[in-house]
Amino acid sequence: MNRVYNFGAGPAMLPTSVMERAQREFLDYNGMGASVIEISHRSKEFEALLTHTDELIREISGLPDDFEILYVHGSAQLQFSAVPHNLLDLNPAHKAAYLETGNFASLARKEASRFGNITVAATSESSNFDRIPDFDPATLDPDTSYVHLTSNNTIFGTRWNQFPDTGKIPLVADMTSELMSRRLDFNKFGLIFAGLQKNLGPSGMAAVLIRKELLGHALPNTPNLLNYETYAKNHSMPNTINTFAVYMMNLVLQWLKEQGGLPAMETLNAQKAKLIYDAIDNNDFYIGSAHPDHRSEMNVCFNLQDSTLDKKFLDEAQVRGLYALKGHRLVGGIRASIYNAMPMAGCQALVDFMQEFAQQNG
Ligand SMILES: *Cc1c(COP(=O)(O)O)cnc(C)c1O
Repeated sequence: MNRVYNFGAGPAMLPTSVMERAQREFLDYNGMGASVIEISHRSKEFEALLTHTDELIREISGLPDDFEILYVHGSAQLQFSAVPHNLLDLNPAHKAAYLETGNFASLARKEASRFGNITVAATSESSNFDRIPDFDPATLDPDTSYVHLTSNNTIFGTRWNQFPDTGKIPLVADMTSELMSRRLDFNKFGLIFAGLQKNLGPSGMAAVLIRKELLGHALPNTPNLLNYETYAKNHSMPNTINTFAVYMMNLVLQWLKEQGGLPAMETLNAQKAKLIYDAIDNNDFYIGSAHPDHRSEMNVCFNLQDSTLDKKFLDEAQVRGLYALKGHRLVGGIRASIYNAMPMAGCQALVDFMQEFAQQNG
């Protein structure tokens, strides 16, 4: 079997050893003679799996006890609806401030605008989202219910290196494309959410880390299954949870722990990204998309000096087993998504190819 180096942005590659283990265990979970996707979510075996997953998240990330872990349907974009429903009523003004750093940030802001008074507190749209905009939290109205940002901008290849200190106003972060890839100071956040399919598991579900004091403020017309309190009261099982997604995430987290957890992963991710950014910076043939001070370590976006060569680049890369390097349809060019599961060898193979391709076509 030939496995490619998969640079797709999401659903993205998972560690091969995790996939192999899932394959081995698929017909017979824990000696039960049934698959993990064939047993009741109310069984003691599944409850244990869910609790173990909670423990792994806390152990690996250092999540404090005053945060609740929720597993919520609908991946990241359903949280664009859930967040305003759950948090706008923290203040009667129903105001929220959104930091606009790309497509997903805009989608989140537009969805929230259907429910409250939403402002754009900072934006980098004028430079086509090639950077993180300056933002001074002192400019926020004190009656703002929450501030929303997208920590890593998957399409434009930027990230917040440092997070703003919004004081008493809860900071909400969409971390879909980087949760569990870097260490976090949870003190700065009120709520963090991530669709699983970039760094943590299969698509269809979101992990939501929410400060307990923010539960119980949902707008009265909030649908039951968008209300985070419903999930918190029922260990995320008010109805049938996505059992397969929980199982896969559990395996990914076990793998992450074996790799040395976040300190080791953070170091490796920085090295992987630097290898590719250096290849871009050291060759006029390539142009990095993001401002160097705001570069993502998960999604490396770049262009060929001569964009008519894009297709040739992508075709030849594919022949070499370097898969899904096409940039998002909104921006074109090339994007190498290098989440936790991408080994250094994959980044090296890409860099070798980039150098050869530049030599032959430059
Ligand atoms: C991929 C991605 C999403 C996608 O949302 P889904 O509902 O999971 O499809 C949202 N936000 C960010 C930052 C992403 O990278």
